[in-house]
Amino acid sequence: FNGSKGHIAHADAVASNDDRRIASSEQVPKKKKVVLLGTGWGGMSFLKSLNNTNFEVQVVSPRNFFVFTPLLPSVTCGKVEARSIVEPIRNIIRKKNVNISYSEAECVKIDPNNKKIYCRATIDSHSKGEEVFAVDYDYLIIAVGAQVNTFNTPGVMENCHFLKEIDDAQKIRKNVIDSFEKASLPNLSDEERKKILHFVVVGGGPTGVEFAAELHDFVNEDVVKLYPNVQDLVKITLLEATDHILNMFDKRITNFAEQKFGRDGIDVKLGSMVTGINENEISTKVRGNGEKTSTPYGMALWSTGIGPRPLIKEFMKQIGQGNRRALATDEWLRVEGFGNIYALGDCATVNQRKVMEDISEIFRKADKDNSGTLTVKEFQEIIDDICERYPQVELYLKNKQVRNMVDLLKEAKGDAAKESMELNIEEFKSALSEVDSQMKNLPATAQVANQQGAYLAKCFNRMEECEKNPEGPPRFRGTGRHRFHPFRYRHLGQFAPLGGEQTAAQLPGDWVSIGHSEQWLWYSVYASKQVSWRTRALVVSDWIRRFIFGRDTSG
Ligand code: FAD
Ligand code: MG
Ligand code: MG
Ligand code: MG
Ligand code: MG
Repeated sequence: FNGSKGHIAHADAVASNDDRRIASSEQVPKKKKVVLLGTGWGGMSFLKSLNNTNFEVQVVSPRNFFVFTPLLPSVTCGKVEARSIVEPIRNIIRKKNVNISYSEAECVKIDPNNKKIYCRATIDSHSKGEEVFAVDYDYLIIAVGAQVNTFNTPGVMENCHFLKEIDDAQKIRKNVIDSFEKASLPNLSDEERKKILHFVVVGGGPTGVEFAAELHDFVNEDVVKLYPNVQDLVKITLLEATDHILNMFDKRITNFAEQKFGRDGIDVKLGSMVTGINENEISTKVRGNGEKTSTPYGMALWSTGIGPRPLIKEFMKQIGQGNRRALATDEWLRVEGFGNIYALGDCATVNQRKVMEDISEIFRKADKDNSGTLTVKEFQEIIDDICERYPQVELYLKNKQVRNMVDLLKEAKGDAAKESMELNIEEFKSALSEVDSQMKNLPATAQVANQQGAYLAKCFNRMEECEKNPEGPPRFRGTGRHRFHPFRYRHLGQFAPLGGEQTAAQLPGDWVSIGHSEQWLWYSVYASKQVSWRTRALVVSDWIRRFIFGRDTSG
């Protein structure tokens, strides 16, 4: 009897212990949950910079590694090994003091009303990965990138190679080498060999151009020694729908690249639209005269641009952003209309605010004494805020070669400026009427995604502080000094490797240079940008190996 009473007493004691434990765990505030979609440039950069331990992070991505995409073209012909440019995501998160978990799955649906996403595991191909699981979030960060865009051209999906993922690069490499082996078999006519060795690149952007250059180097440096009999039958064609390749670069680079490719024997066909492709032939139409041709080819790479992934298309429809090419966010990278969903990188685009939309409010807030006119002093006090809030202003001043905003206003006032420098609203408007013409969408590059990821991590690192003050500059929205700066992109320059150990570099301030030393700059920049010492060592040793022994052509 006693014993059982004691037992009960003991049970009570246990229960009250449990209660106490529950009570004390309730006092520790539950960590806010951040769900991150994607382990590419945007996602990786966010993870690397995040150090706020008040968050619990769950990463969801079908790919458990990060790919250093700028070196993907180098993998296609064996200059660099595939393994050297990937970093396991678990290597990255294990080094963090933040609680981060990873699930190998793809997000298939976002439910912003219930703060949930739905995911499908992508690991087990036997179970077809049909089980869908839900994940709750407090904050959602969408960094799923984009997918290739075929513009619905018939036959592209079935017959073309793409260069987006590490598998793609490996497939291309195998296919390139197979082509040379195939063309070297006996019993083939020269026509057949020529067809097999006709490589077509569709799209004259940086990826297409770099692949063409890599392939050309491969033929000149290695094929001549390894497949001397077929060397003269190789042909590389680059098809570009517009008037020039490398459109986003300075004219000098475009011209140099076109001339170099001409000398190298790469057939650059400008104004050439691909209308269809089957197993044997690629059909093109010349822009302008509409002339159609079909050419036999052996291998084709499609690299004409990107489009939104199905998940993003669906989500945009859901939230009334249909018919867009990317998710629109504000300058704090929050998806328009949602305070707790962020999007960055190739899947997103920042909606920048126009000065002219806010002009009356700017004027009103600047006109402290409500006189209906702005004095130079009143104006000078808001210049910094205007420049920060509207990046286009600085660009405009630079392009117009106006020294500062005050000069701009003087100009708007004209002769009247001599008598008085006070501006009324109409004069203020006309002074700033053209600044918005300088707004540009940010390019879909690793550089942008990388900076956005780091920016967002900084915001999350200071979230507690920022939540008290979530909105932008005080004078135009609310009051108080803002702590939460809008995202600002800093362009650090861009490279275009052109083959033959020559690279074109376009650095900020339109500084353009092309040549062999730029290739060395390229090597050092890309070595330094590696995400870990491990991949850095691997990439550099691949480069050295290739210099000494040439490319590895097994496959
Ligand atoms: P990504 O890096 O593409 O990452 C997207 C991630 O999301 C991936 O991990 C993917 O697996 C994951 N994902 C996809 N779907 C889902 C889903 N449904 N749920 C969850 N996760 C998902 N940029 C430069 O600045 N300089 C260069 O030299 C350069 N060279 C390039 C060369 C090549 C060949 C290519 C293809 C691109 C190059 N870029 C370069 C562009 C750059 O790679 C992209 O702009 C950049 O990768 C964008 O980063 P992101 O994080 O938005 O997307
Ligand atoms: Mg990403
Ligand atoms: Mg990537
Ligand atoms: Mg973008
Ligand atoms: Mg005034």
